[in-house]
Amino acid sequence: MWIVPEGEIAGLMTREAAFDAVEQVFAAMAGGAACNFPVVREALGHEEALYGFKGGFDGAGMVLGLKAGGYWPHNAARRGLINHQSSVFLFDPDSGQVKAMVGGNLLTALRTAAASAVSIRHLARDDAKVLGMIGAGHQAAFQLRAALEQRDFEKVIGWNRNPGKLARLAEVAGEAGLPFEAVELEGMVEADAIITITSSFAPILGAGHVSPGTHIACMGTDTVGKQEVEAELLARATLFTDEVAQSVTLGEAQHAVAAGLVGAGDITPLGAVINATHPGRTGAEEITIFDGTGVGLQDLAVADAALQRAIATGIATKVKI
Ligand code: NAD
Repeated sequence: MWIVPEGEIAGLMTREAAFDAVEQVFAAMAGGAACNFPVVREALGHEEALYGFKGGFDGAGMVLGLKAGGYWPHNAARRGLINHQSSVFLFDPDSGQVKAMVGGNLLTALRTAAASAVSIRHLARDDAKVLGMIGAGHQAAFQLRAALEQRDFEKVIGWNRNPGKLARLAEVAGEAGLPFEAVELEGMVEADAIITITSSFAPILGAGHVSPGTHIACMGTDTVGKQEVEAELLARATLFTDEVAQSVTLGEAQHAVAAGLVGAGDITPLGAVINATHPGRTGAEEITIFDGTGVGLQDLAVADAALQRAIATGIATKVKI
């Protein structure tokens, strides 16, 4: 089996490679060639850790495996490690033999950023100029970098509960040669595309904060109870997601569904737009929302891309099984 340790991922993976891997697997999911397995997530009763498995099989890309990992809230303070820890295990789909272990921490950020970038590529207006960021935590800078590559953005605006943290996003915008402005939520009406990436449990972005024609990638809500966007806004928008079953149960749409404002039938897999079996955005005034819940197949897709690059460049270590 091959081993690709966490420390090698940054030198191996590019945003483009992550984008391509995620776009392809979304297409395979919508076409019925790839499916995610039920997610296991358990409290360990040790270190207050949450641990689990996200697996799946992509019969188009021939990728089988799982991501094992979770959240250890005391890692940063006690061990100088990041709190999210994960590893991806890939298996030979022909034999079931273990094929590779790939470090999953950086890959998680890259695949999550790739998902919203794919949604912007396929759903934002072509003339989108202003990108709005809500949230300025660990994931936000990855999100911003990937999004800026999808349109000729001219300005970035941002809101965070603690505005001091927005300095990091201003730096990232500056690296791309773009001005950055910290705004109140009302200021988001200027945005043509918005990414929400917080761990909020109450709506932040209201229906009145969004202009017609905006695309919103809701990326923070990946758990029952979390919420970033007012349910009424989903009722007014055309809805897309990575996986409908997750969107209605633990994604941003869970609240609009519970309120009876939308149903599973109102939500389209983004892969259908990629496969051109759904038209995606149909007008310049339409609000589109991508509910990015995060699926195991995304992790497997980027891990497989990293593995192929690691083998090709001699970075992967082979061990006997
Ligand atoms: P982080 O802890 O580094 O940052 C959290 C962010 O949320 C900060 O900007 C913080 O100010 C904001 N926030 C927290 N509580 C808030 C509240 N009540 N109101 C307003 N803002 C609040 O976290 P991160 O690693 O950047 O992750 C952000 C979110 O994205 C988390 O919810 C995480 O679970 C989720 N996530 C989703 C995916 C996916 O595939 N969809 C993948 C990774 C992470």
